[in-house]
Amino acid sequence: MLRTKEFVKEVRTGNLSVTEHTAKILEEAEKKKDYNYFSLLAKEYAMETARRLEKDIKRGEANGKLLGVSLSVKDCICVKGIESRASSKILTGYKPTFDATAITKAKKEGAIIIGKTNQDEFGFGTFGNNTGIGFGTPKNPFDKERSCGGSSAGSAGFTALTENTHLSMAESTGGSIACPSSFCGVASITPTYGRISRYGLMDYASSMDKIGTMGKNIEEAATLFNVIAGYDEKDSTSLKEPKREAKLPEKAKIAIPKDFLEKADEKVSKAFWDFIKKAESNGFSYTEISLPLNTKYGVSVYYLIAVSEASTNLAKYCGMRYGAYENLEGTFDEYFSEVRSKNFGDEAKRRIMLGTFARMSGFRDAYYLKAMKARTLLIEEYKKVFSKHDFIAHPTMPIISPKMSDVEKLSPAEIYGMDLYTCPANLTGLPHISINTSEIDSMPSGLMLTGNHLEETKLIEAAKRLEAIK
Ligand code: GLN
Repeated sequence: MLRTKEFVKEVRTGNLSVTEHTAKILEEAEKKKDYNYFSLLAKEYAMETARRLEKDIKRGEANGKLLGVSLSVKDCICVKGIESRASSKILTGYKPTFDATAITKAKKEGAIIIGKTNQDEFGFGTFGNNTGIGFGTPKNPFDKERSCGGSSAGSAGFTALTENTHLSMAESTGGSIACPSSFCGVASITPTYGRISRYGLMDYASSMDKIGTMGKNIEEAATLFNVIAGYDEKDSTSLKEPKREAKLPEKAKIAIPKDFLEKADEKVSKAFWDFIKKAESNGFSYTEISLPLNTKYGVSVYYLIAVSEASTNLAKYCGMRYGAYENLEGTFDEYFSEVRSKNFGDEAKRRIMLGTFARMSGFRDAYYLKAMKARTLLIEEYKKVFSKHDFIAHPTMPIISPKMSDVEKLSPAEIYGMDLYTCPANLTGLPHISINTSEIDSMPSGLMLTGNHLEETKLIEAAKRLEAIK
């Protein structure tokens, strides 16, 4: 299978037909439908784009870093004219009238969008078991009884499973890119908050949402990242500051939070340390540190902020402006409740209730505002580490992908607790990558490397060095 760069070269020189490749990957996705990776396969749209591109290539008029490359897109990212639902029944029939900025950029470089990937509804989940009503649960590519991880479940699953050249665009609020990439054995980049435009990304928690990328290895994920990153005037939180050109030192200093590691499953912890020992003789040194505040409060602060912002953001789905609607009957409150009761899944309802409570007058100071203040302390704790170290490393998830039957036995609070390693970096807006470093009981297990704000380039170089060790 060709990686993106070689694929583009072959396409440009006419050795490879874009229409044939697109037809092949669509056929593959169709054949593997029972994995539930796509909430929508955009067959006509993809073939039409491919045919148009092929004509341009023949005329010598097409160029681009992603020329003819198949791209799957998480369902919460808007693609003009393609039903985009964030895997929620409440957005049934919603076809955006515009492209997200990240989509515009990818299209400009010749990417072909093949479909929208299945996810936990609006991003609410860690195991892909919270997809909206009627969407099916994505299955792990290595063991169908296990979880793909969440919430970008379909993106990670298909990236791992496909035998064709393909990249995926995903989204993370609290770990939804890193977690599934670890469970499915692929590489991913979650950028600094504000580094990739959120314009056209359906909100979950606006102060933490980020678009990011996935590929079979870090170079693949980086190819897409470099295309879609950058300032966008349409997003008021987009960063003007250019990326920092921090260089990767010959011996990079990794900090390993021992209080994180204490919470890992024994096998995950062993595999992680085995890998770190190998890294030690290959361009890295490590020091054990501790992140007491992030370990103790990261998950709680994240969930308080996440549900508060989510409950506000979901208020716009009232059965009038977007997607699903019912017969207009009763008062506004009655109508609004009817539509939402019928079309939101259980986890979305839980988060609306929790978030509304946390923002209520009388509770707001005690919960939401306090969480915002705590967030600043958590950022400071990380920043101190980066004054002495290049990166922070730990396993991406404390466990390998669990069986879905075991996930069903967990309480919501237990599930939230599984985000212990991914919430802090997301809450603090820090860029991080997840790469596959180990196999445990025939399942992949990933390493998460977090860098200082805006240091994606350095992070990518380090990830390449680490991948070469495996
Ligand atoms: N598991 C986290 C949550 O449920 C993260 C989700 C995300 O990043 N979209 O909120």
